Amino acid sequence: MKIDKLVIATGNAGKFREFQEIAGAFVNEVIFAPEIAKLIVEETGRTYSENAMLKAAAWAKCSGLPCLADDSGLEVNALDGAPGLFSARIIKGTDGNKVSWLLESLRDKHDKSERVARFAASLALCVPDDYILICEGFCYGTIANAPAGDNGFGYDPVFIPDGYSKTFAELDSAAKNSISHRYNAFKKLVTILNLHK
Ligand code: IMP
Repeated sequence: MKIDKLVIATGNAGKFREFQEIAGAFVNEVIFAPEIAKLIVEETGRTYSENAMLKAAAWAKCSGLPCLADDSGLEVNALDGAPGLFSARIIKGTDGNKVSWLLESLRDKHDKSERVARFAASLALCVPDDYILICEGFCYGTIANAPAGDNGFGYDPVFIPDGYSKTFAELDSAAKNSISHRYNAFKKLVTILNLHK
């Protein structure tokens, strides 16, 4: 099976580009949600999955099309899982401000073992009047001592995935999208729905 039209329920252009790469082969037409409507969905859930479901269901209702939403975050062991669900809003300002907050929070942690982290993503696929499917994915790594690289978005300049010596922002998009938390979640969805290229 191949999905005909799929709305990516995000206003984040960085995430949309990733989904185009990750999901594009299994979908005839990938649509950026802001191109079809103006809709703000409050992220009031207590988990990534609840937030992903809220976004996918709202956009499916609004568009009448299958919608894929993601809610994701960075979880740092030494910070008891913070910023986690609040990764996008832990501090006001730009991605650069959030990266600075993170590096400052870890300033006393010099050893790699003290800078262990993971990205988590929950994907919700909502097919209107039919079903919602939730899949989770993770990507494990460590937080770098200083930002490096210009690719990607969010915390990419300081996240070094396990098995690599470069940050996500130094890897090209194809490399990130073959190991990322969103990719690992989407892979499960492909298996469950038996999607084909
Ligand atoms: P939300 O899922 O849109 O609520 O936001 C998740 C936030 O987590 C983003 O704004 C980023 O700060 C962070 N995040 C999630 N996935 C990634 C990623 O792949 N790279 C860098 N930061 C990410």
